[in-house]
Amino acid sequence: MRRLLLTLSACIAGSMSWAAGPKYVFYFIGDGMGIPLINAAQYYSARTSSDYTGATLYGYGNHKLTMSALPISGIASTDCADSHITDSAAAGTALASGSKTNTGMIGMAPDGDKLYSIAHTAKEAGKAVGIITTVSIDHATPASFYAHRPNRGLYHEIALDGIEAGFDLYGGSGFLKPVKDSVDIYNLYDKAGYVRMRGRDGLKKMKNAKSPVLLTEREEAPSNLLAMAIDRSDDDMTLAEMVSASIDYLSNRGGEEGFFLMAEGGQIDMVCHSNDPKAAIEETLDFDKAIAVAYDFYKRHPHETLIIVTADHETGGFALGNYANGYTLPIDRLRDVKGSASMLTKLVRESDMSWSDARTALEEMWRLGDDIKVSDDEWAELEKIYAESKSRAIYEASMLVSKAAGLGWTTGSHTAAPVAIFAVGHGLEPLAGMHDNTDIANLLRKLYLQESIIPHEIPVNKKVRR
Ligand SMILES: [Zn+2]
Repeated sequence: MRRLLLTLSACIAGSMSWAAGPKYVFYFIGDGMGIPLINAAQYYSARTSSDYTGATLYGYGNHKLTMSALPISGIASTDCADSHITDSAAAGTALASGSKTNTGMIGMAPDGDKLYSIAHTAKEAGKAVGIITTVSIDHATPASFYAHRPNRGLYHEIALDGIEAGFDLYGGSGFLKPVKDSVDIYNLYDKAGYVRMRGRDGLKKMKNAKSPVLLTEREEAPSNLLAMAIDRSDDDMTLAEMVSASIDYLSNRGGEEGFFLMAEGGQIDMVCHSNDPKAAIEETLDFDKAIAVAYDFYKRHPHETLIIVTADHETGGFALGNYANGYTLPIDRLRDVKGSASMLTKLVRESDMSWSDARTALEEMWRLGDDIKVSDDEWAELEKIYAESKSRAIYEASMLVSKAAGLGWTTGSHTAAPVAIFAVGHGLEPLAGMHDNTDIANLLRKLYLQESIIPHEIPVNKKVRR
């Protein structure tokens, strides 16, 4: 009891020091990042680290990721209003607003009522608000924080809602439908006072920006995605760099009131849709580097900073352990696997590559026939599939990579598996335990509205709408 009272008073003291709720909030969402994938990233780091001796096979404690080392951890279910298996629109809406909705809907209840996100609450509390992602700004997860549309595919209209929400920073690869009926989204953002920053050069200038910022990738880069961690060149922006520049910019802009930053690792989902194990691990480790930047900030402002990390759902039914390897997990066979499946697919299709060149590419890039054992029958089967469909052959090759590394996939879609919650900061203690995904935004809203919170209270989902 005494301990509970101490914890309570510490929390009250913590919240008392906030002018209008928590001063600095980081909300990290790994799109499609299931718990087994986090574990795979940890095992992979451990098994491929320079100090790995084999004697410490199970001693991966030192190889925890920043996210999994955060002191508060919980689990969230991800089902939405019309399915056990959600999509990023309904899941993003739950994580953003604290209310359930139907698959495909953005910031809107099943009956069409607008749902306002925790980013709006932060803005009303005087914070500078930033929404950044490794995919396009109008994609479902970031959109759930600022837009209200019945269908996630309404990219142009979603982008318009960003102006309406009036947040301080939107960052990502670009927009998917910038022009419709001769209305140019970029012109409208211009007129609304947003200054456009592009690529890594833009990140350097962002700190001193005096206006709201629209951050997109450099001009030559595609507008639909940032480069994946596994395929990246030195010219490409990373989420860690974006978080770092966002901290500088939003700190200046929010001043004493502080800021709210949502940062999405948006491509974890995409590589899991293509059942691409090395890309999925690299993308997760890359997402974790962005969290490490926030954690450095937390260490400088421990009494004023909250960090929450979660996922909107699991993608791929990713599993550690398969029939081919029994009780072993030879995940280090991925060590020298280079390049994503999507990059390789693009390469063989665009150059109309012959099977013998494609086989050489698979041998060199994915170590097929070397670290990744392939039988003569499997090579013959791949060749046969390649003649019918190049992309399917790359997919089947990727399945051989997974198989050799002891990994498995049940689907190319999402699953109903629960996801992890990791957190640090005063007031986030109730996130320990098993939750509904709506609990996170509802707790944050309580903190902003400075409603009293009982640490370890069993959450009641009053706002679940079905
Ligand atoms: Zn997905």
